[in-house]
Amino acid sequence: MKIQSLRVRTKRAKSSEDQRLKTLETFNKTYPTDSHCYREIWKRSHHSQIPICAFCNESNHQFEFDRRTFKCNKCHRKNSVTAGTFFENIRSPRAWLGRLWFLEKGVEVNSAQFAKLFNIASSTSLNMLKKIMMVVVNELSAHSTVNSSEFEDAISRRSAETPVNQHPRSEIQVETSIVEDLVSPLIEKLDVCELGIFKLLEVDKPLSSDQLLIRGALTSGELALSLLNLKSLGLVKFLPGDLYARDKPPAPPICDGAQSSRVLKFTGIIIETYQGISRKYLQLYLCAVWIFTDRKRWGQGSLIAACSKAAEIKDSQVRAYVSPPSVRIP
Ligand SMILES: [Zn+2]
Repeated sequence: MKIQSLRVRTKRAKSSEDQRLKTLETFNKTYPTDSHCYREIWKRSHHSQIPICAFCNESNHQFEFDRRTFKCNKCHRKNSVTAGTFFENIRSPRAWLGRLWFLEKGVEVNSAQFAKLFNIASSTSLNMLKKIMMVVVNELSAHSTVNSSEFEDAISRRSAETPVNQHPRSEIQVETSIVEDLVSPLIEKLDVCELGIFKLLEVDKPLSSDQLLIRGALTSGELALSLLNLKSLGLVKFLPGDLYARDKPPAPPICDGAQSSRVLKFTGIIIETYQGISRKYLQLYLCAVWIFTDRKRWGQGSLIAACSKAAEIKDSQVRAYVSPPSVRIP
């Protein structure tokens, strides 16, 4: 896939600086203080419009939210807003609620732009987006996957997974993992003779039947039968001059037409909005693009609802995250 072909403009409207500032203004009007944000977070994660005391079950609109807690005016005990929820231990409720608000409104904003709008560190902003997307990925069907190499044009950033002194794209583990994935179920079907021959052979170094007979300590009958079976499984190829080599396993499934156009569209948006990403987090950015492009699925309230069902995600979990070789696409 050539970069030039990505210049095709997608039909969606790109969010402008003006649009981002306008969205921020509406957000600030809706949630003027941290207490307003905490009240909203409590309501969303407890699926209740009226605050309810966890100790005495009293419900009352008048409960006062004082940052992370609200006080019950009947039993006078303090209820935690975020304990046991996805939002546990958050430091900036404004930024969190704001992040969800921008995403649900379909206003594209990359992590650096968002950090500036909400006056938080870029790394915090980036982690917030990744944590939200680690929730969203569970909403994607596991049945529609494509190889991560399909997105190579969007992969231009290094990550902890990038081999030293190599281009970020070297993270694309297609060949190795796919080859192993495809061959391993076949290998389980082999008998001792066949497995012995398969192990003796290499892809680019053919051996003759004489060499195989000696090295494998086989009879010529065993060898002939085993080679035929290995050939029928696509594991060994017969070369001219009585030579045999390991066959390359069948290529991974190629994207169908509909998937190809989605890959192209998603790659274009990732480049435009995020100016390139690492392969490590590819899956999470695909989720972010899904949110921008499927406004019906990810409208108002949908994202915060998905987060409310999830448990807290720690920074260490974000660092440990690695996109699978075959990524899910909507
Ligand atoms: Zn109470």
